[in-house]
Formats: sequence, C-alpha cells, structure tokens
Amino acid sequence: MGATERRLLLEAFDSNWIAPLGPQVDAFEAECAAYLEVEDAAALSSGTAAIHLAFLLLHIGPGDRVYAPSFTFCASVNPILYVGATPILIDSDPDTWGMDPNLLAEALEQDSRRGTLPKAVLLVHIYGQASKLEEISMLCEKYGVTLIEDAAEALGTRHRGKHVGTTGYLGLFSFNGNKIITTSGGGLLVSNDKALVAQARHLASQARIPGAGYEHDALGYNYRLSNLLAAVGRGQLQGIEERVAARRANFEDYRARLGDLPGISFLQEPESDRGTHWLSVMQVQPEVFGATPEDIRLALEKENIESRPLWMPMHLQPVFREAKMLGGKVCEELFRTGLCLPSGSALRAEDRERVAAVVRSSAGLLG
Ligand SMILES: *Cc1c(COP(=O)(O)O)cnc(C)c1O
Repeated sequence: MGATERRLLLEAFDSNWIAPLGPQVDAFEAECAAYLEVEDAAALSSGTAAIHLAFLLLHIGPGDRVYAPSFTFCASVNPILYVGATPILIDSDPDTWGMDPNLLAEALEQDSRRGTLPKAVLLVHIYGQASKLEEISMLCEKYGVTLIEDAAEALGTRHRGKHVGTTGYLGLFSFNGNKIITTSGGGLLVSNDKALVAQARHLASQARIPGAGYEHDALGYNYRLSNLLAAVGRGQLQGIEERVAARRANFEDYRARLGDLPGISFLQEPESDRGTHWLSVMQVQPEVFGATPEDIRLALEKENIESRPLWMPMHLQPVFREAKMLGGKVCEELFRTGLCLPSGSALRAEDRERVAAVVRSSAGLLG
C-alpha cells in the first residue's frame, strides 16, 4: 500500500460513506473501465462473486454444461456447482498453460453433432499469461457458445494490444490480497454490454428495485464492493503499470539467473502478448536437475523464503472427482514440475539473487 491508497481511504472514511455503494465505488468502476478500455464494469465483493453473477446473468443452471480448464484456482469452477450446472474440465495447452483449443474444438464438434453444446466456455488467463484467445473465441463464435474470461490473475495483461478479459461476453478480475492490485478482497465484472453490467449491479444489490421501499424483483445477492475498499482500489489502480513492469522484471531476472541450469525452464511469452507474470513460475525436471520442486520449496523455506506449488488441477481434487475431464497429461506435468517463485512487486535484485542462490544450491539434492 502507498500514500495514495491511504489518503483516498481516509477521505472515504471521513466522508462517512461506509456502505457497499458510494462515490468511491462509482469512481473506481469508471477508472477500471477506462483502464481496461471496456464499456462498463461492476465492482464486487470478490472475483468468485463475479463468476457466480456471470453464470446467473447467462441463466446457467441445472442440466447446463460449462467448459473450463482443469488447471486453475478452484474459484474459477466452484460457481459452476453453485448454480447446479455440470463442469467439463479441459487440459492445458503447452504454449500458454490455458485451455487447449484443440481439445475444445474436438469437444464442440462432437457436441454440435449430438445437440449437446455447452452454455458457456470459461477461459482462464493463468498466472497472468494470455490464453489462446483468438482460437477459442472463434470456436465459441462458430458454435454460438458464450465466452466468459476469468482474468482474475491477469489484470494488466494485453493480447495483441487489447486487455484480456474484454474480448468475451463477460470478463472478470479479482482484487484479493494476493493479486497484482488489491482491495484486501474484491472483484470486478466487465462487459461491453452496459445493460448486462447494470443487471449485474442489480443482482449484486439484493435485486432491490430503486426507491424507498424494499421490493425485490429477483433472487439477489449481497455482492457489492465497500466504498472504503473501492477507495483503496483507486489508489492501487494508479500504480498498475509500475506493478506490471516490476513483475515482468522479476521474471526476466529469474530467467537470466537460472534459465541456463540443466533441467530448469521458463515459459516463453508469445510476441503478441504482454503478460504480467503475476507469479514467476519455473519448471523443474527433477530427473535432470536432481531435485524436485518440493525439495527446492523446502530449501527456500529453510531460508525463510516462501514459494508455492502450482495450482493442483481440478480433476485431481476430491471436490471435482465426478467431473468429466478431457485430456490431462499437460496440466498434470505442470503440477509435477512447476514452482512459483517469490513474485511481489516490491522484490529487489538482492532478494532475487538470494532466491536464485538457494535454487542453484538445490541441484543434485536427489543424489
Ligand atoms: C483469485 C482467483 C479467482 C477468485 O477471486 P477472489 O477475488 O479470490 O474470489 C478466480 N479465478 C482465478 C483464476 C483466481 O486466481
């Protein structure tokens, strides 16, 4: 947090607008929409709430199928179950780690023949890397399936010059404590369809009809962002480009320090993308490097340095045991070989050197 966040928060506090609405919320929404170059944005209590609302707005419910990547955080797919729909999980594509467009194409072709097309495809831009947006949006168009973009980890990521999260019918972002900018907890639903965003605000405010009375025209939710937190978000958003630059610099620096080690590799970003590297992810081939990602994680922990495994694919999770999975080898391999290195926007070169030294000294631990 910086001085701007503090000033805006105290201004909001002193204005006595302590509610899940207010001038800071309105301003934050307008500033997010302007930054993302999208028509409208609704500020919400979380990214999870944004996905839930997206499904509700599309009238997705029991009997409907939704395609989603297996390799993601559980918040992407849990709302499929909240609305009683059926998730179909899809493996990652090795170039972007996002949903594999070839597997999706096969599945949609088969669905189209059988008359079982899904209600939506949920794309996730994982770790701030753009997924194969063109291929997937063309497929969605071809079969008339709605595309939703989960850009919770990818605020600031551009694909062919355009912000991810703004190509599909609906897109969403998260301002959870661990994301590139934060309001401690919060989310954003965006669309170029203003009426849809207005409907999202309505559902997020208990579907209450404007006016003095307490009349509700639908089943609503309490999903709006607090005016205080929106003030924090406004301050954070002002620094988004510096944060993206810092995260990209983390990644480039780790790659320069470690990329030449046998068995260590980093994903190459396509030229058309400007990802955020929300987290710097390294891949370790244990058979070549001589240590597993978990060995390295423990060695770092001994030095009081936190690192994390990659997302455990959803098809390996007890809660999604019943879900259908298409493919699986790519994301299982990512889970086996990946490690998220310290990635904060405030890391210094000497911090990264400390991390790199521990990684280097872990080589050959397996003996
Ligand atoms: C963080 C995250 C979410 C959920 O956001 P919250 O604000 O924590 O509810 C959804 N999808 C992905 C991929 C995420 O990383």
